[in-house]
Amino acid sequence: MNKRTIIQVAVPAPLYTTFDYLLPAREQTAPAVGCRVKVPFGRRSMIGVVTGSSDHSSINPKRLKALYRVLDHSPVIPAEALNLLMWTARYYQHPPGEVISTALPALLRQGKAAEIRGGLLWRLTDANVDTTTLLQRAPKQLQLHMLLQQHGGELDEERLRALELETGASLRSAIKPLIEKGIVEQCEQNCLPEAVTHTDSGPDMNIEQRTIVHAIEGDLAQYQAHLLHGITGSGKTEVYIMLAEKVLAAGKQVLVLAPEIGLTPQLTERFRRRLGIRIAALHSGLNDSQRLCAWCAAANGEARLLIGTRSAIFTPMPDLGLIIVDEEHDGSYKQQDRLRYNARDLALVRARQKGIPVVLGSATPALESLHNAWRGHYRLHHLTQRAVADKPPRVELVDMRRQPMDEGLSATLHQRIGAHLQQQGQVLLFLNRRGFSPVLMCHACGWTQSCGRCDAHMTYHRGKRLLRCHHCGADTPLPPVCPDCGGEELISLGAGTERIEQALAAKYPQHRVERIDRDSTRRKGTLQSKLDSAQSGAAHILVGTQMLAKGHDFPNVTLVGILDTDQGLYSSDFRAAEHLAQLITQVAGRAGRAHRAGEVLIQTHHPDHPLLQTLLHQGYEGFARAALVEREQVGFPPYRYLALLRCEAIRADAGIEFMQAARALLAPNASNGVEIFGPVPAPMEKRAGRYRTQLMLQSAERKPLHRLLQPWLQALQQLKSAGRVRWSLDIDPYDTY
Ligand code: ADP
Ligand code: ZN
Ligand code: ZN
Repeated sequence: MNKRTIIQVAVPAPLYTTFDYLLPAREQTAPAVGCRVKVPFGRRSMIGVVTGSSDHSSINPKRLKALYRVLDHSPVIPAEALNLLMWTARYYQHPPGEVISTALPALLRQGKAAEIRGGLLWRLTDANVDTTTLLQRAPKQLQLHMLLQQHGGELDEERLRALELETGASLRSAIKPLIEKGIVEQCEQNCLPEAVTHTDSGPDMNIEQRTIVHAIEGDLAQYQAHLLHGITGSGKTEVYIMLAEKVLAAGKQVLVLAPEIGLTPQLTERFRRRLGIRIAALHSGLNDSQRLCAWCAAANGEARLLIGTRSAIFTPMPDLGLIIVDEEHDGSYKQQDRLRYNARDLALVRARQKGIPVVLGSATPALESLHNAWRGHYRLHHLTQRAVADKPPRVELVDMRRQPMDEGLSATLHQRIGAHLQQQGQVLLFLNRRGFSPVLMCHACGWTQSCGRCDAHMTYHRGKRLLRCHHCGADTPLPPVCPDCGGEELISLGAGTERIEQALAAKYPQHRVERIDRDSTRRKGTLQSKLDSAQSGAAHILVGTQMLAKGHDFPNVTLVGILDTDQGLYSSDFRAAEHLAQLITQVAGRAGRAHRAGEVLIQTHHPDHPLLQTLLHQGYEGFARAALVEREQVGFPPYRYLALLRCEAIRADAGIEFMQAARALLAPNASNGVEIFGPVPAPMEKRAGRYRTQLMLQSAERKPLHRLLQPWLQALQQLKSAGRVRWSLDIDPYDTY
């Protein structure tokens, strides 16, 4: 009997395996690994990706089904990218088909061709026609013509669709007659912006920058991880650009990962203007066809540089020669649901697989990264000087215990704000708490509003006149009087950004205050306009949450105030101290960029806290050394490897039952240096109406931990109690909430 080829396919289903299919007789040759195929799956058909072929299967040949159709002539996912995906599936214990579909643009998942097809664009021509007369009897054409004029003479498909919704008119039918009259032309958009022909020349590199570029440049032909620790404004991005230039000149591609380029096009623009090449960008602000286009341009080599957020790490790049991870410490590299991967870690894996260098850059490297550098796994490079400002800011702790406080602001801080404003300086105040106040309390009986679905208080939002839970989003109208005792005096305890904003506006009426947080920037475009007014100096006082701490360049800021550091000093999360030190360092780095000396005031009730003292007197790396000692003592990463099983259940007992069964499955294996903690309630046990429990596995070595995960996971799926809960396994969890 003729042996038939068995095709192994990763199908986007929650199953930890690939599936075997027969090749239909009409297909001459087996599809290559990385091609998409349409296959029968249960009673449906699905699009999967070929991961291999064989001449035998463990499944009874009579039960094997033939695949329906091969969708690609050549692989959409070449071997290099597929290797990374399969590695990811194994390491993070996630179904391979789901890993692959995380990586693929939606249109490829749906079976569309992998080719660059920009959307359509309609543009007014230069034709000089008297449209008022010509379109007199065609109101719809006239309307479309007017809309085109209002939108700079251009509309793309997406904009047109939005306008159709807005106006309730079907404008599409007016396009063709306008084209026939020569008034409008139709073009195909390309998703890559044109290359700039006139590039900006960069500054001359300083000695530190030159030394680093030279060191990395000498080592481009093999795997090497570099950690670039450079203070804010020290010219890290310049180093990235110079390195990219060298790698591009050698005919290779460059991948740049960055935390939030959807919000901040500046970084992409800077690379584009300096390098003068066509750059593909992948971020959450794209529609499906833009995403497909950028992905394909990187995959077929047309784009030589790809800049993207987290999931861009999976994009095929045939000539990849360098990976750069900017702000490598940033939490957004870790995906917190479904496939819980860390793109920074995968950048290292991919660089190693491909035999190329990877550069991690930050003003506040993750403790893991510094640890790896100090034990010789990464090469560590320093940029210690600001590239333009000559003096680092002066940092001072403000002891809140000895001061009258006015709406969350100490007298010292008020006095400094006044002084800086008078000298035309800009003030940035940072508080990681939105809303007016975190608690609203009845003065007569002590009533407070807690969320019915979470173990949390509801935050008072004065502008909206409501109480809102920041953990599940539930809200309730502001009660006019105390719901318990009818008391009329409801007092707001503590301050959020909204309250600070109001206090400042009242105190400094002649100065413009701009608040930047999730509440004040909900409407599309408001963040950009607020950032613009911050950058231009039109706003004199900026108040905001961590949104303000991220990478924005405010050249006029001379005073930075950190209003409350104490929450970070006493949090139960093992990364809290690290986050606080990063935050202080990053926010402080916003002071006195450009040529003006800056000042940073940190308000705290614990000015003698060792964390603050070490950070202030020994700098970030000094802090990191001390914090690593502590991590080692308590047995947390990077000294221990963690896996966290999380469970959420509507009924508390269902959660406990599942977790105890999960724990029991492990008992016989729990040797080999793997320790098991729990199950215990999560730090916030009830959230969004679900009871949350967790079970932590810790091991000094990675191998024994990972060896027991796979069989455990399979056994977990078989548990009867698994059906009544939501559970997930997080490998190398970022936090333990
Ligand atoms: P980072 O990425 O470390 O925050 P950037 O690369 O953005 O720093 O540099 C900060 C500012 O300093 C930018 O305006 C940049 O153009 C400028 N800059 C960087 N390197 C130099 C240099 N060698 N000489 C003069 N200016 C520089
Ligand atoms: Zn009351
Ligand atoms: Zn809630």
